[in-house]
Amino acid sequence: MHNKHHAQLLAVIGHPIAQSKSPLMHNRALSVQRLPYTYLAFDVHPEMLAQAVDGLRALGARGWNVTIPHKIAVLPLLDAVSDEARQIGAVNTVVNDGGKLYGYNTDGSGYLRSLQEETGLDVRGARVLILGAGGAARGVAYTLAVSGAAQLIIANRTLEKAERLADFLAPFTQTAAVPLSDAGKWMNGVALIVNTTSIGMYPHTESTPLPADIIPEGAVVSDLIYNPVKTTLLQEAERRGALIHSGLGMFVHQGALAYEKWTGVSPPVDVMRRAITPPGERGERP
Ligand code: NAP
Repeated sequence: MHNKHHAQLLAVIGHPIAQSKSPLMHNRALSVQRLPYTYLAFDVHPEMLAQAVDGLRALGARGWNVTIPHKIAVLPLLDAVSDEARQIGAVNTVVNDGGKLYGYNTDGSGYLRSLQEETGLDVRGARVLILGAGGAARGVAYTLAVSGAAQLIIANRTLEKAERLADFLAPFTQTAAVPLSDAGKWMNGVALIVNTTSIGMYPHTESTPLPADIIPEGAVVSDLIYNPVKTTLLQEAERRGALIHSGLGMFVHQGALAYEKWTGVSPPVDVMRRAITPPGERGERP
């Protein structure tokens, strides 16, 4: 039961953290739903992670998000970790249940929810091309694999990292690892292209991981980047008639899934999305 006079603490820990839009997004939703929580951002140096987690537990924080660079290091500090987070090897959400800390990963499921919401794509049986093999690629690729994608082609600048990710995914679906520069040779029958690299992210917004002329017209093109909301890759894909999906929806839904675990209430996703959409991208009618 909540004490109505004292807001419970929610948080995000990362390093750096100043750029995080999570406090704005969560506090807006909490305020609209009149829920007695306050969400704060804490810059936690990697050497202080264990102390910070103990401190949040001691303060009775209800839960927190974990972001770069702590998503892997936090695992051994928790009492239990969901199967999904253990498989992915990273936690982005912690729930404090009476002093016991439970770890989850909502990045992959947040991605899939937003992809389905915005494009309607059914990933079952789909051939998917994933650009990149870093931390974000792992959660997204795992979720696509266990959700029935028939083949995942991992294209990465560092081939060895693509191979490692493909090996990890092999128990769940058919996989291939290729150099990023060869991605164009693997477009045949691809239903979904997902950019999980940071190519095109602010401030290098003119960069793109794929030359425009090799983007297949029938595919859904998805980018995990949300700054800018519409990357050069998405602009070029849209011009070629592809259905596009930006990283903003993934960010909103990973947060929404965490919010629901902490509060037991499903949040107003549209309010969260509007809170973090930059002016000029809101598409509001006058
Ligand atoms: P990461 O672990 O550092 O991985 C970066 C990936 O990008 C690697 O595959 C890397 O290739 C590739 N890369 C970077 N610069 C490159 C370049 N110049 N040329 C070719 N490849 C390059 O980063 P991450 O945590 O996975 O994040 C990746 C992106 O996803 C970021 O833009 C992040 O903002 C976004 N993201 C979005 C959400 C969301 O909620 N929407 C969530 C998480 C992440 P190598 O292996 O060869 O280095």
